[in-house]
Amino acid sequence: MHARLLIDGEWVEADGGGRFDVCDPATGATVGSAAAGSEVDVRRAVDAAAAALPGWRATAAVDRSKILRRAAAVVRERAEQIAATMTAEQGKPLAESRGEVEYAASFFDWFAGEAERAYGQVVPAMNAANRVLVLPQPVGVAAAITPWNFPAALVARKLAPAMAAGCTSIVKPAEATPLTAAALLAAVTDAGTPPGVANLVTLADPRPFSAAIFADQRVRKVSFTGSTEVGKHLIRMSADQVKRVSLELGGHAPYVVFADADLDQAVDGIMASKFRNAGQTCVCANRVYVQRPVYEQVLAMLATRTAALTVGRGTEPGVEIGPLIDAKAVEKVDAHVRDAVDKGARLLAGGTRLTDGAFAEGSFYAPTVLDGISPEMRIWTEETFGPVAGVTAFDSEEEAIRLANDSVYGLSAYFHTRDYARLLRVAEQLEYGVVGANTGIISAANVPFGGMKESGYGREGGSLGIDEYLEHKYVLVADV
Ligand code: NAD
Repeated sequence: MHARLLIDGEWVEADGGGRFDVCDPATGATVGSAAAGSEVDVRRAVDAAAAALPGWRATAAVDRSKILRRAAAVVRERAEQIAATMTAEQGKPLAESRGEVEYAASFFDWFAGEAERAYGQVVPAMNAANRVLVLPQPVGVAAAITPWNFPAALVARKLAPAMAAGCTSIVKPAEATPLTAAALLAAVTDAGTPPGVANLVTLADPRPFSAAIFADQRVRKVSFTGSTEVGKHLIRMSADQVKRVSLELGGHAPYVVFADADLDQAVDGIMASKFRNAGQTCVCANRVYVQRPVYEQVLAMLATRTAALTVGRGTEPGVEIGPLIDAKAVEKVDAHVRDAVDKGARLLAGGTRLTDGAFAEGSFYAPTVLDGISPEMRIWTEETFGPVAGVTAFDSEEEAIRLANDSVYGLSAYFHTRDYARLLRVAEQLEYGVVGANTGIISAANVPFGGMKESGYGREGGSLGIDEYLEHKYVLVADV
């Protein structure tokens, strides 16, 4: 597997010919390489996107929509190949990779519909002689910067709405996962997307990318998914040209279980939210709060289920937890666990790196449950980004809401209750952009996904998703 750059419909090597290796986090083995793009390549990609913009913007929405639907179909036809590539470079179990490919395809389908529904307005004028129009128009050239944890889905979540709106794009995937992005862009291109509409630049070092796009007046929009730290840096860079930026950043999800909940459903929800992608998701539970009367019961259920999880290479049947992305990630997870144990938490499952036998060359960590987490522990405030569930007890609804909102992040939150008045009260008071009530899985193409506070701004998906790529121009026509 060797990825090249996609510029103006052509797959090309980087200026200078450099490449970088891509590794399997389960084995440490090199599984391929990608072209090491430079600032020169980014500028070539912006040239291509800028040249393609007038034609794509002028393409009838219904025709853009047809291409998006074909893109969804080609992605589905190639699901096995894209999923295998994803597991090879990212590590997640094949079943999860297949699910992610379908999820990525669903965004092309959804935005095919949204392209046709990008309505403007005719506003009743203040003066009867005038007419007022509101015209939705594409922002222009858009840049997409994506992380490694969902290497197909997060590219699709940006590229599909941009294409639907009539924007052209330059996609920059994470260094760890360029091959999945290349496979996805190949599907989009082979579906009939005109040259220059969707470009791909892979880089071994991301900084030349942001340097080039933030200095280029032709790039009018940057959509970023990644860490809050890098997001803040990009906000600062965007100031010089007042570029439109949308940001899907880090999260630190609370998961609250009230005593009146269906406890089997609640534990299912925690397991799904916490351990999907080995806990490397921005929406995964980081703090589990359980009401005191059912605390011991939920804790025991969680510890038993966690200890029974099958860890291994994502290519092996039955594996539920793959490797973490790299050794640094294992280091951070282990540091969070050690810190919690040192400060009084009790280990009920896991708590160790896995280094024996089949795990020897990979980045594996045992699924872990910590009882009795508290505010002075790192796990309480920092994203762990690994398979560690920290649990503690609460007494009242008011306390649960206070604890849940005790974070600088505001991406996702979950809670379980069978009291429907409480359900509405709690949902309304959680300071999070995405709330799961009686479920731990909340992502879909038809809903507006995004954060509050330091989790960023902007929404991806749903009827709001296309707005991130549209300007709404108001036109006053006098004396008609
Ligand atoms: P990261 O911020 O290190 O990297 C994300 C992307 O930004 C990568 O493509 C990287 O190459 C690029 N990047 C880094 N520095 C850059 C710079 N100076 N200029 C231009 N690009 C730069 O994040 P990560 O470790 O890849 O991903 C994990 C983070 O992403 C977590 O914090 C997670 O919560 C977050 N995330 C958020 C969402 C969401 O929807 N809110 C989804 C997935 C992941």
